[in-house]
Amino acid sequence: MTAPVTGADRDPAQHRPVGTHTPTSGGLAKAALPYVDAAGSEVVQVYVSNSRGWALPPGDPVQDALFREGCAERGVPVFIHASLLVNLGSPTAATVERSAATLAHALRRGTAIGARGVVFHAGSAVDAGHAEAAMRQVREALLPLLDAAGDAGGPMLLVEPSAGGGRSLASRVEQLGPYLDAVDGHPMLGVCFDTCHAWAAGHDLAAEGGMTATLDVLVATVGAERLRLVHANDSKDLCGSTRDRHENIGKGTIGEPAFAELMRHPATAGVPVVVETPTEKHVGHAADVATLKRLRP
Ligand SMILES: [Zn+2]
Repeated sequence: MTAPVTGADRDPAQHRPVGTHTPTSGGLAKAALPYVDAAGSEVVQVYVSNSRGWALPPGDPVQDALFREGCAERGVPVFIHASLLVNLGSPTAATVERSAATLAHALRRGTAIGARGVVFHAGSAVDAGHAEAAMRQVREALLPLLDAAGDAGGPMLLVEPSAGGGRSLASRVEQLGPYLDAVDGHPMLGVCFDTCHAWAAGHDLAAEGGMTATLDVLVATVGAERLRLVHANDSKDLCGSTRDRHENIGKGTIGEPAFAELMRHPATAGVPVVVETPTEKHVGHAADVATLKRLRP
């Protein structure tokens, strides 16, 4: 078993905890906590509903409490990834409604398990003619959720720019500007930066200084304090491909030097870093976690 993370030996403001998206089937605490230990995780991300479905399970209070306490004991912050079907920009009204209900559910579950943030994809307008209406939908759906999250003192919502294509509402980091504007810069909306998505959307992270320059643009667009989570994923595809196929850190087209820049950029100081890479059991994840820890200053 991996020793609990104390962070006692480093400046907490600079610490970049590293962890993984973590499976939960069989019980939140029962499945996830051993995985956290085996992977050497210092942060954990979980689904609280089927990633490809709309069902909204209530959760098991016993597992919730054990998980919350287990993560607190280990000093491991918790993040939820909302269902991948969520699209607040959809031209289909039922999808927008289900998306908002899914986010409300994830926020409630986040409060129950002590999560810091709920990640959701920025979404897409799907049809060229729907772009303006899509941003209005984002505003109408998000504002009440963000207000409620603020009142509850619960987790923040974290928007994750997508890999691009399909009339994405935000894939390049500059597009986070209009997205934040759509909710009047609400303080409960943060950003999750996914390296594979940014690469797919055309940010050349593999060029020397490319990761640094992209994070500089993110900071210039929304401010460093908006960045609350990083998804560190290498890619199987080329820059600008709009394809979202993750690869283990240093084994893909982005390459290890870019992740070294990521782990040293001042904008990531104090920001948790989660891998969502391919793995057999925890093995690939443990290797990726170890690599990112090694790349920390
Ligand atoms: Zn991601």
